Amino acid sequence: MRVYRLLGSVALLAAFGMSVAGPAQAQNAMQAAVPQADTFTLKLPPGDPAAAAAQTGTMQFIGTATVLIRYQGLTILTDPNFVHKGEHVHLGYGLTSQRQTNPAIEFDKLPPIDLVILSHMHDDHFDKLVQERLNRNTPIVSTREASEGLKRLGFQQRFALSDWDRLEVSKGEARLRITAVPGRHGAAGVSVLLPTVMGSVLDFGANADVPDYRMYISGDTLVYDDIHTIAQRYPGIDLALLHLGGTRILGTFKVTMDGKDGVQMMQIVKPKKTVPIHYNDYDVFKSPLSEFAREVKAAGLDEGVVYLAHGDTYTFTPRKAPKPAP
Ligand SMILES: [Zn+2]
Repeated sequence: MRVYRLLGSVALLAAFGMSVAGPAQAQNAMQAAVPQADTFTLKLPPGDPAAAAAQTGTMQFIGTATVLIRYQGLTILTDPNFVHKGEHVHLGYGLTSQRQTNPAIEFDKLPPIDLVILSHMHDDHFDKLVQERLNRNTPIVSTREASEGLKRLGFQQRFALSDWDRLEVSKGEARLRITAVPGRHGAAGVSVLLPTVMGSVLDFGANADVPDYRMYISGDTLVYDDIHTIAQRYPGIDLALLHLGGTRILGTFKVTMDGKDGVQMMQIVKPKKTVPIHYNDYDVFKSPLSEFAREVKAAGLDEGVVYLAHGDTYTFTPRKAPKPAP
């Protein structure tokens, strides 16, 4: 096993060496210049009318990048990761990472889930337990690459989005538009060897162009040019969930935002509130939450950040609440 890991690491290093600043950069630039967007739809059966008429929404932090978002009777789960402290996840190329925390909720205790948003296919975002136990009919919104993996695992309702593609979701009176936005797991040369990543913008409300509430989930990304495009196309973000952790693979290559990057991200996308997630949960996460908190303070952005411990819930009030239940 140790030999296998070592070989994997050597192969990975060799591949990094060959690909730095390769043709992928030019390709990315072209994609950004010529955006093509497809629209998909998902109609869910109407649920509990009382939940649909709730005047506020909630976002509960379960751990890593796993959150439960509930609004207007919709229940959305992101990047489901339910393995426990001490267990290992695989990150490809024979690399593994050990979990340092427990999820705040056990997988079996989750409420019924309407859909899953999966930023990318990595074991710390869609772990073995979830791969085995998640209901095969759960709609999953993700990248094309991840959707291929989900198909092999037997998941039936896959929505494979490229950058700027949309999924229009309806459930009774509730409306949600999910737009896939750019994310890149590391510097240009490194990211080509890692899964493609999808950030997402969630626009709640009857008119997604003038949403009642706009949420941005970064996915595992660094700050790079395309992040500015997100800010231009989706201004007025109410809540940003930022994947931090300053993840380092092979102890060297940074593949997620550290504390400083998180603040830079806030300065670009200008969310009204930011909740940091994806930190302190794995031994490959090298930038602790305290580093982000220090940078936030130094930048004078304290008021815009909500710190949630695992299990904590943030309650939000949309600009326009749904009609109260009769
Ligand atoms: Zn991750």
